[in-house]
Amino acid sequence: MSDSVLYDLPGEFVSSMAESSGYCDAQAVLPKDDHYIAFCTCGRWHTTTPTRDEGLALARAHTAETEAG
Ligand SMILES: [Zn+2]
Repeated sequence: MSDSVLYDLPGEFVSSMAESSGYCDAQAVLPKDDHYIAFCTCGRWHTTTPTRDEGLALARAHTAETEAG
């Protein structure tokens, strides 16, 4: 139930990946307690989802948006 703990791991992970990329090269969905955290290597997108499938769907929507823009 702590938001500060929630972003510790993926925040670091995203920034280290974003340094070498900065683009939407890869997305990941990591299990965290009773939900999932989805994020992108561009470092500008991350979210939490109740299921892995939903995280993957949102990641796909994110890259589709980015590629379209
Ligand atoms: Zn991205």
